[in-house]
Amino acid sequence: MSETIFTKIINREIPADIVYEDDVCLAFNDINPQAPVHFLVIPKKAIATINDITEDDRQVVGHLTLVAAKVAREMGIDQEGFRTVMNCNEFGGQSVYHIHLHVLGGKLLGWPPY
Ligand code: IMP
Repeated sequence: MSETIFTKIINREIPADIVYEDDVCLAFNDINPQAPVHFLVIPKKAIATINDITEDDRQVVGHLTLVAAKVAREMGIDQEGFRTVMNCNEFGGQSVYHIHLHVLGGKLLGWPPY
């Protein structure tokens, strides 16, 4: 898999507004926020799309959701509510091929998302 901009963020080769980090994942604010709160949670392991997740990744992928909720709580958006989204491939609107959980909140979000 070719390296994406997110690997460069993990390796500190380009800057990002990092809000959480541990051994497994990193969370940082989205550079083009679509809501008052919009951050991304990414695994340090480079997995291109949801289609590439394997059984071996079960814990890593579950961890992304736990971290999303933890950071959302720390940012004070947990009670009003928020949305997590993981886009997949062209029709899903994926632009960076390193899986990432979008976390959006801070306002009443519309649905469906088109
Ligand atoms: P996707 O369209 O689901 O793949 O989402 C990719 C997200 O990454 C978009 O919301 C972009 O705004 C965001 N993004 C791209 N480059 C950067 C960056 O360098 N820092 C933070 N967010 C980025």
